[in-house]
Amino acid sequence: MSEVPIKPPVEVKYTQLLIDGKFVDAASGKTFQTLDPRTGDVIANVAEGDAEDINRAVAAARKAFDEGPWPRMTAYERQKVLLRFANLLEQHNDEIAALEAWDSGKPYQQAIIEVSMVTRLMRYNAGWADKIHGLTVPADGPFHMQTLYEPIGVAGGIIPWNFPLPMYAWKVGPALACGCTVVLKPAEQTPLTALHVSKLLYEAGLPPGVLNVIPGYGPTAGAALASHMDVDKLAFTGSTETGKIILDLATKSNLKPVTLELGGKSPFIVCEDADVDKAVEVAHQALFFNQGECCAAGSRTFVHERIYDEFVQKAKQRALTRSVGDPFKEGIEQGPQIDTEQFNKILKYIKSGVESGATLESGGERLGDKGYYIKPTVFSNVKDDMLIAKDEIFGPVQTIFKFKDLDEVIRRANTTRYGLAAGIFSQNVDTINTLTRALKAGTIWVNCYDIFDAALPFGGYKMSGHGRENGFNGLENYLQVKSVCTPLVNPAW
Ligand code: ADP
Repeated sequence: MSEVPIKPPVEVKYTQLLIDGKFVDAASGKTFQTLDPRTGDVIANVAEGDAEDINRAVAAARKAFDEGPWPRMTAYERQKVLLRFANLLEQHNDEIAALEAWDSGKPYQQAIIEVSMVTRLMRYNAGWADKIHGLTVPADGPFHMQTLYEPIGVAGGIIPWNFPLPMYAWKVGPALACGCTVVLKPAEQTPLTALHVSKLLYEAGLPPGVLNVIPGYGPTAGAALASHMDVDKLAFTGSTETGKIILDLATKSNLKPVTLELGGKSPFIVCEDADVDKAVEVAHQALFFNQGECCAAGSRTFVHERIYDEFVQKAKQRALTRSVGDPFKEGIEQGPQIDTEQFNKILKYIKSGVESGATLESGGERLGDKGYYIKPTVFSNVKDDMLIAKDEIFGPVQTIFKFKDLDEVIRRANTTRYGLAAGIFSQNVDTINTLTRALKAGTIWVNCYDIFDAALPFGGYKMSGHGRENGFNGLENYLQVKSVCTPLVNPAW
């Protein structure tokens, strides 16, 4: 790692599609621009894949799966490739982080941490490669019965722009560890790091065709991947709206199994016995982390009436001191939003909050006149039926609600179509146990928030998704279980 942060312009080495281990142009010859969210300026022109390129990529992945060597290599050999890749990520941590921060607008220091999370995710999945095995099953008769675990085949992945590299690792890591081959479509806003690190994966010894990366748009490249007859499994992270389309395409084509990690409107509940200062800080981070562009954001802050006024004042002060600016500047906590579309959408929600009668405590407008910066915004006196209380804003807008008792907050917290995560702040073990069990969400953070681990499953209830990623649950998505039954010639033994 270098002593000082790398700053843009960073060298953009790879802008073509990655098919069969080689960088190639799109069949159409088309390209699209990826922009710098700090200014809206063009960073690079990237090859724009569409259905024809997805066909080429799936054919390469199919061949690499059916003819090998990847699924037939020993698990230990596959593990070594993934571990070498993790070492390369570590060696190139700062240049990868710089590319990620430039393309996505997230603070450089945060991107550095995310690259190390990806390294850990790769090592975690690599560790499983040679520990996946079936069972010998006790039969009710003279048979030898066993289960075999096999890779599911060609895995498709469609990922979003808010955490381009961690989402890459959540899809690619378990798939490769299980012996699958992969076609990945990064988000059109952030295609650069997926291409960059995939080159490192090939340098680590990945055989041709095992991983293919096709940048392009959702309704063209993404839809072609979701509806492809030769893709055996699909993993998607993105909006609930797009998740529905993806599931429909998968069902109407070959009924491929789909894991979906979608939107959220996660409650963050601050009980009357909570350490208020700590709760204010964690609630602040739970919402504003990554410019508020988090599916798991603690986006409904419920505060007990007895500490409500104190909490609101402190939350407002904290938002006013949040440092917003160029993600490459030291000490910056919040960069620009990803693009004009998200920027305008967030400002529209802020306007709706004001119009519906919530109290605007801080922010509420853009910062500066260049790029997509928004001032950290806090609303108090938010009511459950307001649009800002129900929709996923996906931006730096904290909404604070008042509650009286536990039953009431449980009911209100669960009154949402989402169920991705929840936060609880209390020092009372009975309150914590009650809330932990009552809240309908895939992850519950107690006196903390946004703690992710490669070993801890993540996924949603209700319209926040299907299935779990991370942990062994994450690998199971990429495995078929085959049952084998053989008569015993001499049942006495
Ligand atoms: P957002 O609206 O925040 O950009 P999306 O859920 O639309 O989030 O995008 C997440 C990923 O899904 C991106 O890679 C995007 O290109 C892809 N995508 C968008 N629309 C479709 C679609 N109709 N079919 C397949 N993929 C899509």
